Amino acid sequence: MDQIYKQLVDICTEKNVLKDEPMKNHTLTKIGGKADYFVTPETHEQTAKVVEYTYENNLPFMLLGNGSNMIVRDGGIRGVVMNLKKLNGLEVRGTQLIAQGGANIKDASRLGLDHHLTGLEFACGIPGSIGGAMVMNAGAYGGEVKDVIDHVTVVSKEGERFKLVKNELELDYRTSILGKKGYMVLEAVFNLEEGDRTIIKETMDDLTYKRESKQPLEYPSAGSVFKRPPGYFAGKLIQDSGLQGKGFGGAEVSTKHAGFIVNKNNATATDYIKTINMVRETVKDTFGVELELEVKLVGED
Ligand code: FAD
Repeated sequence: MDQIYKQLVDICTEKNVLKDEPMKNHTLTKIGGKADYFVTPETHEQTAKVVEYTYENNLPFMLLGNGSNMIVRDGGIRGVVMNLKKLNGLEVRGTQLIAQGGANIKDASRLGLDHHLTGLEFACGIPGSIGGAMVMNAGAYGGEVKDVIDHVTVVSKEGERFKLVKNELELDYRTSILGKKGYMVLEAVFNLEEGDRTIIKETMDDLTYKRESKQPLEYPSAGSVFKRPPGYFAGKLIQDSGLQGKGFGGAEVSTKHAGFIVNKNNATATDYIKTINMVRETVKDTFGVELELEVKLVGED
């Protein structure tokens, strides 16, 4: 038996280790080649042992959350991809909400509502995990993770576990120190405030309505592909470049929201990336603006 697979099974048990797993099953674009090994640990101990094993054996290692901000190339990912979806606990203590790295931020937002706590309403429609949301400093409609985070518990690539408080996280527009250093988010603690349930619910309903009416949620996508360039809106630049409905293969610039590239018909990563490049070149030629990627491109061609 393959030695790496055997070691991973010894650590995580057979049901939590998949070999040659298509990443299109784990990304919201429904695109992506195979990962050599895909592990879903059930305990922090298993998580730490996998990190230690990959580090000591110099194996490539990557974290995947809900795959909502990730384009995996068609050649897939070498080494070990870890997903924390089985470490998804959520709890409220007083006005603090404690979330495991694999929980959905939407569920955290919903739990805040259930406990009449305000602060996470902005996240009610963001389809990411807590870990992915922390790495990206996810935000929407005027709110962002930075506004409510108290601290996170992380594990470094070397397997060291420690806490980082808000001002150590370097949270900025769709970036943080977590991604730069490759820290794994095991847990995040948010500071919320007591609020009026009716008002919290109304805010969430309003944001859901705005999202559903403006975004092409009927097609697989990775959300906004590009960051907002200073002084502009990426979607408006793309729309004014006449690119809506254009693309390659099964990938297309959304006709509903130009900032999204949708997988309309069995797109490959190659289709998606060619469409990204076409958009960047056209916007640069038309407006002289360089669009920076918000989505993360990973894996091999
Ligand atoms: P992934 O896409 O899986 O990964 C993103 C990065 O985080 C990768 O570098 C990955 O290695 C890392 N990562 C994942 N888990 C961990 C962990 N536990 N520890 C450390 N690193 C980790 N984003 C917004 O900010 N606002 C929006 O309003 C918004 N709307 C969206 C709407 C749609 C329809 C879609 C598809 C996406 C949208 N996004 C939005 C993008 C996306 O949901 C966010 O960036 C989200 O925070 C990514 O989380 P994820 O778990 O899917 O991360």
